[in-house]
Amino acid sequence: MADLTDLTLLEAAQALRRGEISSRELTEACLTRMQALEPQVHAFLATTPELALQQAQAADRRLKAWRQDRSQPLPLTWGIPIAVKDVLCLQGVPTTCGSRILEGFRPPYTATSVQRVIDAGAVILGKTNTDEFAMGSSTENSAYGPTHNPWDLERVPGGSSGGSAAAVAARMCFAALGTDTGGSVRQPASFCGVTGLKTSYGRVSRYGLIAYGSSLDTVGALARSAADLVPLFEAMAGHDPLDSTSMPDPVPQVSLEDADLKGLRIGVPREYFIEGIASEVEEAVRRAVQVFADLGAQVQEISLSHTDLALPVYYLIAPAEASANLARYDGVRFGPREPAQDLWEGYFATRGARFGPEVKRRIMLGSYALSAGYYDAYYGQAQKVRTLIKGDFEAAFQEVDLIACPVAPTTAFRIGEHGDDPLSMYLEDVFTLPANLAGVPGIAFPVGFDSRGLPIGMQLNAPHLGEPALLQAAHSYQQATDWHKEHPPL
Ligand code: GLN
Repeated sequence: MADLTDLTLLEAAQALRRGEISSRELTEACLTRMQALEPQVHAFLATTPELALQQAQAADRRLKAWRQDRSQPLPLTWGIPIAVKDVLCLQGVPTTCGSRILEGFRPPYTATSVQRVIDAGAVILGKTNTDEFAMGSSTENSAYGPTHNPWDLERVPGGSSGGSAAAVAARMCFAALGTDTGGSVRQPASFCGVTGLKTSYGRVSRYGLIAYGSSLDTVGALARSAADLVPLFEAMAGHDPLDSTSMPDPVPQVSLEDADLKGLRIGVPREYFIEGIASEVEEAVRRAVQVFADLGAQVQEISLSHTDLALPVYYLIAPAEASANLARYDGVRFGPREPAQDLWEGYFATRGARFGPEVKRRIMLGSYALSAGYYDAYYGQAQKVRTLIKGDFEAAFQEVDLIACPVAPTTAFRIGEHGDDPLSMYLEDVFTLPANLAGVPGIAFPVGFDSRGLPIGMQLNAPHLGEPALLQAAHSYQQATDWHKEHPPL
């Protein structure tokens, strides 16, 4: 067979089942490609080749047994090499969140989402690069250096799950786990030309996900198509007693055979086509919406009238929650400690030296918004507006089944382009934040290229717990188009 890394996850899964290839061969092919491309791409913060080969060997034993006795179902993730964003704990493996404050930290336990994909037979290749504590939209905030976009190495892969997106796009792995607090699965998926699923709040356990904004954080996945994402979603989703916000609802089986766009009502929010959106992005998204219409969907314009408030609301709520969540990194409980004379000096020295500038900015913003006298004016007010934004989605979903919109106003920008201007970076998130504030799921997938040859993505949103409808709709689009099959020229 040619290069095994060219297979899709589902093709690889079928070949494994038939015994044409082994998980070991797949894993070795991924590790070889990682070795060749990592010097240019830098998608990984830690690699786990020994663990991967061990898991692959175990997977091969089970696959062999399964071929002899097929009475027990075998998940499609069995023996498939994947990567995990470095904000998800994996026992004994360095987990840094892209931060020097967790340098060398090895968690004593594994996140539920990661454990569930391991239980479903996946092989873990390593931990992927991320903006520090998932704060950012470009992976440039990683303390360990940026990831490079496989489509153009001078450009960012998006963020904060930029390492996961780049690893999938460069075919170093068949899929990767990511997290999305304000767009961190969808936007890098869009910038790297892959498919990314942000799950509903509460659908996938947050246990073992190192917290950023606890009321916004979700675990998702990135792969080369919606069909490839289905087995990962099915493995990860579902109630977990270790996360008190995890939904008790049963996880439906996602049947792609039933995927049918006929009569599906798709709303296009007028507030998402604003000044500042690149014309090539708008055109590609509108063309993709037309494809949905041609395939039988009923497309109508809708309004999400509080959209312009999502950005200021998010950039109060997320930093406020982050400032509380990051209080635990004191140089005593986790990671390294800077030398100091006494306890207070130790706190200041460790946090001062080991948090990066964006994290410090957010801690200051968040602490300010939560302080006595300002709480009602900022955090309290933001929560009220958040309820209005959620109400917009609820009203829209009375009229339509799905919402279609852009993922980001631009395609991948140059490394350093937003340099010293955090506000211009925050504007990149304008189309992804509302879903997190409302807690609803979203999927991003490629719908074309701009004149520079950079991927353009579009987004679908569904009501809370509506992931099956998202995966089916994106799959229908991908059955009719080939954008998701394009590879970067690496
Ligand atoms: N870019 C957004 C932020 O910086 C979202 C990040 C995320 O989803 N983790 O907060």
